Amino acid sequence: MDHRTQRAAHRVEGRSAAPGIAMGRLVRLVAAKPEAGQSRPVAGEHQALADALEASRLDLTALAGRIKDEDAEAILSFQLALLEDESLATPAFALIADGEVANRAWVAAIDPEIATYDRADDPYFRARASDLRDLRDRVLRRLAGEADQALPSGAIVVAEDMPPSVFLATDWRDGGLILRRGSPSSHVAILARSRGVPMIVGVDIDHLESGVDAVLDGDAGTLIVDPDPMLRADYGRRLSEQAQARAAAFSFTGPVVTASGEPVQLMINVTGLAELRDIDPSKVDGIGLMRTEFLFQERDQLPTEEEQYRIYKQMVEWAAGKPVTIRTLDAGGDKPIAGLTMPGDLNPFLGVRGVRLSLKRLDVFRLQLRALARAAVAGNLKVMIPMVTLPEELDRCRVLFQDAIDELRGEGHQVVMPPLGMMVEVPAAALVVEDFKADFYSIGSNDLIQYVMAASRDEPQLADLARPSRAVFNLIGHVAAHAKRNGRDASLCGDLAGDPQQVASLLDQGLRSFSVAPGALGPVRAAIARYSGKPA
Ligand code: PEP
Ligand code: MG
Repeated sequence: MDHRTQRAAHRVEGRSAAPGIAMGRLVRLVAAKPEAGQSRPVAGEHQALADALEASRLDLTALAGRIKDEDAEAILSFQLALLEDESLATPAFALIADGEVANRAWVAAIDPEIATYDRADDPYFRARASDLRDLRDRVLRRLAGEADQALPSGAIVVAEDMPPSVFLATDWRDGGLILRRGSPSSHVAILARSRGVPMIVGVDIDHLESGVDAVLDGDAGTLIVDPDPMLRADYGRRLSEQAQARAAAFSFTGPVVTASGEPVQLMINVTGLAELRDIDPSKVDGIGLMRTEFLFQERDQLPTEEEQYRIYKQMVEWAAGKPVTIRTLDAGGDKPIAGLTMPGDLNPFLGVRGVRLSLKRLDVFRLQLRALARAAVAGNLKVMIPMVTLPEELDRCRVLFQDAIDELRGEGHQVVMPPLGMMVEVPAAALVVEDFKADFYSIGSNDLIQYVMAASRDEPQLADLARPSRAVFNLIGHVAAHAKRNGRDASLCGDLAGDPQQVASLLDQGLRSFSVAPGALGPVRAAIARYSGKPA
């Protein structure tokens, strides 16, 4: 047994990935079993499909009973009606009778139906295709022995790992997340921090059972299983303090300054409009990083130019004149996007991600640049390119941006060429940052650290290595000094900026602009106020 579980049967240690307390029941996500591709006797395959259909019907019925949302209700009743219509599965059972295995028979029966909906003229019927796809996958999960993944709100979810798309599709109200894999700088951890979901990683989850009461202490990186009444009362008090602190997080006023009164720009990182709903724009200096890849996930079709334009414009309007830095698509790495990223990439973090992918998928990139050029008319928009490695990549983006603008003007649109900057997150770019024709720089410390230290941001065993060493700080100082000499803005939008303990070291390097998860604004502001080092 692992020493961490032995130390105390009821206390399991991990590593904090997102702060906060959650109290609730553990819900374990069952890992997918290998595909049932082996042939059972025909009767066995027939029964497996019949059972999976019935289990899916029960899952949907239970879900429909819990959900109080009109759109979701409509989808669920459509799916239930299909499942209850025997004609849907009849071709699958016929294929099984001819010797096909259950999962392939189910896909062969339902895929033509999906294609029919996809081809429909009426947009209402076309939209139903994705509901049908969802139904196909639900039955497939059941055939693979997986439980329903719909999670009750308030649950403390226990899993091996979780892709960002699953995180985004989950209702996390009052809940928390525990992973065996992942690390504090993985994208799912970034999302957890920005949504205020307590999370710990690197946990030995072998003995954690569904249904047991637990307290997740995201500050200490600890899970307490079946806490006694005293602990429960203690954490209950901390929970209400947490709720009060969250409410007070934006109560500060006045500019962000160091102890000697030197101003520091403090912006926020976001992934979509939803996070802006609860934030008063007068309390922040703008958006330092909008990660657009999350607009592309969890959907059947990539977002259109019009859809992107509307979202970017609303962000710019929300900021009312303050800068909004929108990063072009950084798909790839641990953010795969169906139909876009390369599934067979051997080493995704060293693969076709960020600008490398955009320059290969010019159809997708062009739409995004068009949407950005149109949204720039609404206010103070800045555009930032991720994973730039060579100066030519940025030059190419500038040419493509200008082409998109000329094209839009020709079509009679109002457009503006916004400042075009780069993420500095690849050592090859940080080392010779002076070679790049960027209007501004934003240091991506999450990737910069993993590439400088040759230690994956997702590998819990290397957490002590994937940290900012002197080599990393030297590169940060080099970028800050170059920007200052040339009168350009340099900011840091990686998670290092959101760690109050690192703020002084970053200010020492001459940086005076940070972009952090909204939840880190208060603590970072306080750390800046304590700083008494020399002015930049
Ligand atoms: C970074 O690498 O620090 C960064 C901000 O980008 P992301 O975490 O989205 O890769
Ligand atoms: Mg990055």
